[in-house]
Amino acid sequence: MLGDTIGRNLDRAIAAHPDREALVDVASGRRWTYAEFGRAVDDVARGLAARGVVKGDRVGIWALNCPEWVMVQYATARLGAIMVTINPAYRLHELEFVLNQSGTALLIASTEYRTSDYRAMAAEARPKCPALRAVVHIGDPSWDALMAAGVDLPAGYLAAREAVLSCDEPVNIQYTSGTTGFPKGATLSHHNILNNGYFVGGTVGYTEQDRVCLPVPFYHCFGMVMGNLGATAHGACIVIPGPAFDPAATLRAVQQERCTSLYGVPTMFIAELGLPDFASYDLTSLRTGIMAGSPCPVEVMKRVMAEMHMAEVSICYGMTETSPVSTQTRMDDDLERRTATVGRALPHIEVKVIDPVTGVTVPRGTTGELCTRGYSVMLGYWDEPERTKEAVDEGRWMHTGDLAVMREDGYLAIVGRIKDMIIRGGENVSPREIEEFLHTHPKISDVQVVGVPDERYGEEILACVIPRDPADPPTLAELTEFCAGRLAHFKVPRHLRVLDAFPMTVSGKVRKVELREDFGPPRS
Ligand code: ATP
Ligand code: MG
Repeated sequence: MLGDTIGRNLDRAIAAHPDREALVDVASGRRWTYAEFGRAVDDVARGLAARGVVKGDRVGIWALNCPEWVMVQYATARLGAIMVTINPAYRLHELEFVLNQSGTALLIASTEYRTSDYRAMAAEARPKCPALRAVVHIGDPSWDALMAAGVDLPAGYLAAREAVLSCDEPVNIQYTSGTTGFPKGATLSHHNILNNGYFVGGTVGYTEQDRVCLPVPFYHCFGMVMGNLGATAHGACIVIPGPAFDPAATLRAVQQERCTSLYGVPTMFIAELGLPDFASYDLTSLRTGIMAGSPCPVEVMKRVMAEMHMAEVSICYGMTETSPVSTQTRMDDDLERRTATVGRALPHIEVKVIDPVTGVTVPRGTTGELCTRGYSVMLGYWDEPERTKEAVDEGRWMHTGDLAVMREDGYLAIVGRIKDMIIRGGENVSPREIEEFLHTHPKISDVQVVGVPDERYGEEILACVIPRDPADPPTLAELTEFCAGRLAHFKVPRHLRVLDAFPMTVSGKVRKVELREDFGPPRS
């Protein structure tokens, strides 16, 4: 695997089992074997070539999850083009920014979804994006025209283009989630992401027998690397439950397609477990899955392992800039390791925890900033050498901005983001610890804890709560009583907000920045 390109890796899977299923789209009922999928990818690749796409060109994809997304992923890789993955929740202003920042030449976009009219937005963006030569919409005649555009190219055309590709060349620009600020365009090579998908899938034991349900967005590394590449690198089948996350549609897809693996960020699993008819789904085909992106509360993990039959569920930690996964729990790890840690380093990846001020590695058991190094570290932020230098040091260590502890057993615990740490009256308070505790409150379905400005203590603790029963939310007095004597006084929330939902990034992470901002200026 090491040293190969994404296209050549797909060729091997096609040759090994052409008749096994590669891709299923549950919403439309369409399905492709590996041989059929390979032919569809080649049609897209030839179509792009006929439209003038050459090695190094940026091809944008601004679309909800669908089979065509996966085809574009492989077609651009075959041509040596660089696929720019664009969040489908982006609106005009953000779209223009990304298209211009990356110099995208051709954009492939959805047509419409709910209130989003992608045709109208793309048409409006086009005159303001000088590098953009063409726009194709999936599901309208422009897509069919693309698929047919390359029919006259000579046989062997794609093979010749692919033969000159090196695995170290860029294949993707993936923007970070924008959880803490404006997204950054991580530039990644075949070597970066193909190997990461391969190792992540290998850790959960994928074979061509596996069927992987992916409700996570493809525009993000969770879907496109850990999902699409992780599955196909082992000859497994990708199951797309729908264009965007829907808990009921996800469980229906697992049941109908007899999926063996299910992905999600913890909030997705919480939504699935919270469905009123949860018990009516047959999930007995599941054995594993991947949970990543943010910490998983113990109560949720227990239910996922027992009630969703995912005894081998794996926790991954990573970031877009590192392809993404650096550490992962193993299939035989116990509940403690699956909830208190994010596993241990994957093969060929080094991790260290440093004092963020001095840069010196801290002893095991001590909190510091996590740094990672290895094949997985990005080539750099696209066209942003200064920001790249801030993130990746001269020794090629990626400074993650996350606080972590290296345990004696070599497993890594994530304490939180440096930016999310609450400093109340001089005490460092980790929101995660309070969230874990409040998850055990009977009236709480989900909870986020943030620091908000306070004149006396600098910051105070705000608990944002989604109640189990909207008609009977917990009160601040109830929470205070619940915490009394069980949490140190400076960790007890002083403010409460009851919400129906949290502000989320499309990759499913809670935007704590917004929870803080919405709370407003200091109060007396
Ligand atoms: P931005 O960098 O734009 O603010 P982001 O960091 O959320 O957004 P991603 O690259 O999608 O963008 O996410 C990586 C971050 O997600 C990590 O740095 C870490 O803070 C968090 N994370 C990922 N996996 C886990 C996990 N298993 N447990 C806790 N946190 C995690
Ligand atoms: Mg980040």
